[in-house]
Amino acid sequence: MTPAGKRKKLAAKMKFENNFSPTSQGVPILCYHNVSDTKYKNYSLYTLPVKRFKTQIRWLRRLGYSAVSLDALYEHLANGKPLPLKAVVITFDDGYRDLQTTTIPWLAKMELAHTLFLNSGKMGGTTGWIPRAPDISILSAEEVKGIDRLHGDWVDFQAHGRNHLALRNQTPETVRKEVMEDVQSLESILNRPVSYLAYPFGYYDANTVESVVKTPLRAAFTVDQGLCRRGQNLHSLPRVEILGNDWFIDFIMKLVFGWSPIAKLRTFLKLTWVKLRSG
Ligand SMILES: [Zn+2]
Repeated sequence: MTPAGKRKKLAAKMKFENNFSPTSQGVPILCYHNVSDTKYKNYSLYTLPVKRFKTQIRWLRRLGYSAVSLDALYEHLANGKPLPLKAVVITFDDGYRDLQTTTIPWLAKMELAHTLFLNSGKMGGTTGWIPRAPDISILSAEEVKGIDRLHGDWVDFQAHGRNHLALRNQTPETVRKEVMEDVQSLESILNRPVSYLAYPFGYYDANTVESVVKTPLRAAFTVDQGLCRRGQNLHSLPRVEILGNDWFIDFIMKLVFGWSPIAKLRTFLKLTWVKLRSG
């Protein structure tokens, strides 16, 4: 093949990779809550049975995805450092106690990086912010330290607000206090810097972002669906929630596209059906 032919072939290959690589297209940031075989009433949407969670993660690996840390993601977004061709970020909100047996040791054994977003004011206690659901146990500071000692190479702990207060429609002082008290408390427990925040309930507005930008935090995460890309606002990055009523195809769609059109259609049809029946 002539050098020009080779160049053309290489360009075509790169175009193909650029078109289809989730890294160039964006990185899915998966947002889980609890993983447990306990059936928490009115919390099944946010609790994945252990077997289903493990099936999802095994498929993620089978499809060639590599789990990367938030630091690696940040270096990519802020400084253009390359990520694996198919990168994914795995996160868990709230720090449920169940995770210390159902999830963390297994992910560490599989050498998969993942992050828990914690509310330091709730540690060792129970949720209390979920309407109609029972209070669910949250990891204590001692348990977090223990997990960090055993699995710290693979699990990372970051901020989720001191008391899981919704940070939308709040004064800048309240936002700063909720965020920074959590950051400082986690830093003293872990003895290392905490640099990322997941907005409690995923709620935020322009003022929330403005307040968080003024803190030393490097990035903050929402639950707005979509893939994470360079050029997005670092303090309102998208994540896709993996839910208890997702079908397997939804998980694959969420992994590849950052959202599931099938889940959207299902919700729309369900709502239409309810309206028709009641109308
Ligand atoms: Zn939460």
